[in-house]
Amino acid sequence: SPQHFQASANELAGKVILVTGAGDGIGRQAALSFASCGASIILLGRTVHKLEAVYDEIEALGAPQPAIIPLDLTGASKQNYLDMTATIESQFGKLDGALLNAAHLGVLSQFVQIDEEQWDKTMQVNVKSQFLLSQALIPLMLKSTNASLIFTSSGVGKKGRAYWGSYAVSKFAIEGMSQVIADEFDKTGLRCNCINPGATRTLMRATAYPGEDPLSLKTPLDIMPSYLYLMSDASIGITGSSIDAQPK
Ligand code: NDP
Repeated sequence: SPQHFQASANELAGKVILVTGAGDGIGRQAALSFASCGASIILLGRTVHKLEAVYDEIEALGAPQPAIIPLDLTGASKQNYLDMTATIESQFGKLDGALLNAAHLGVLSQFVQIDEEQWDKTMQVNVKSQFLLSQALIPLMLKSTNASLIFTSSGVGKKGRAYWGSYAVSKFAIEGMSQVIADEFDKTGLRCNCINPGATRTLMRATAYPGEDPLSLKTPLDIMPSYLYLMSDASIGITGSSIDAQPK
């Protein structure tokens, strides 16, 4: 099963993979895990010193040389994403995988109290930027024989929950976007799936659940088998699915 997938040391050898939100949390670990399986990683995020730290960790692994793309998804334009894609193509020649992982939690509150600006920011980072990013990346990904596009969902992206407001709505949108793309590119070399990390020990989780003991949670490393499965050739033919990284 995806949750117990065991990746070999060269599982992703020769692949070029973009990871967004690669400076911290799950994205950081995914970048490290993909790199240690032989992939060249493009690290996208907004805090440069965090990306540089991950860059150094990847170099220390002896993995292929990564690249850094500093970009804040709040303000990026369609042209920024097109330029970024052109840079990836000229520097790496192709793109075999993209893990769209960066997201904005926003403020948990009663529905009637949701602040309009917070709503807009959540939709901008979690939905619109994901739309513009995939629109820019897909034509390049289609040039690879097999490419994997992975969106990041959430438990509240499949069943709404009180006080999760705009974040929950944005994650439902991600499930929808992933299904639309999967269906449209079915029978091509591009597969598209969602992953739901489940409760994981990161800053975002600690912000959402300040009273919780982080040590009671799975770590980003614990949930990597599903990420490696969806990014590797083991998942060729799997598209339009939404995988829970933590099995019940
Ligand atoms: P973190 O907050 O730990 O990491 C998110 C990363 O995304 C950070 O590196 C952050 O940058 C980056 N990011 C956030 N906003 C932007 C932006 N506007 N532009 C560029 N980069 C940005 O979150 P997690 O690792 O916990 O979450 C990863 C994904 O998993 C998210 O999509 C989240 O919704 C989802 N998820 C997480 C769960 C959990 O329990 N942790 C459960 C369910 C879903 P910076 O470091 O600069 O802040």
